[in-house]
Amino acid sequence: MADATAIIVNLTAQSWTLHRSYGTFTVRGCADAPVRQAGVPHSAGAPVAAQNTNGPRTMPRMHDAPYALTRVSARIAVMDLGDKRTLEVPITAAEVARDLCREINADGGDDSYFGVFVAAGEKPTDDELAESRERLAAFYRRLVAAADREWERSHSYLFINDVERRAALYLGVEKEWFYQPRETVECPGCGEKIKPGFAVCKNCGAILDRAKAAALGLIPPAAPIGPAATATSGAPPTSGTPTTNREAHRPVTAAGPVRG
Ligand SMILES: [Zn+2]
Repeated sequence: MADATAIIVNLTAQSWTLHRSYGTFTVRGCADAPVRQAGVPHSAGAPVAAQNTNGPRTMPRMHDAPYALTRVSARIAVMDLGDKRTLEVPITAAEVARDLCREINADGGDDSYFGVFVAAGEKPTDDELAESRERLAAFYRRLVAAADREWERSHSYLFINDVERRAALYLGVEKEWFYQPRETVECPGCGEKIKPGFAVCKNCGAILDRAKAAALGLIPPAAPIGPAATATSGAPPTSGTPTTNREAHRPVTAAGPVRG
């Protein structure tokens, strides 16, 4: 006998709305996908629809990622036979689910796969998840390779599409063509997007982390920064500017003790 409902598993954050002859469906994405970097656990407490709790936490990241579940039920499709005659065709929940998954996964053309599948049971098994994640990663790797070739040819962001960026994000790869806004900060000195955690801005030379810069020998340790140094610099500090900001604006070359 056919089950009354079927479960669609979605591995990515992308949600999909499909208009089919038998109804409109939304297959939702998981709030916490994708996992960004190997070794970086997804944030605890973030809303996730469901989570693979089988296996130790030390499993590879791809097996530790969340997924979203969407339940669909059986429908009646109405076929138009012409002459105002119609035929009602029952569609099982499993058929609905398979049809939706087929539509979604084919969205990227030949051999595309967007990580959406029908679970055999109420929850996806580890094997189902592993197989689907492998297919998704393989598809995403092809997209990233295609974007690499496009970038090599054109060096233009215009020719890199959203799906290719999502692929890079999901795989946690860094690419020249893939701008990751959450992984950069603005240099307070020059406004350039830079990676966080570095001692000095490579663009303008601003010291971003004084302790780190001193430890690396980029500036003298415990360089005196005070009223004397500021007074002889010729430019009075902007009143109200926090010290930390002024520090950040100070280029490396001017970081040493100022002698008047
Ligand atoms: Zn800078």
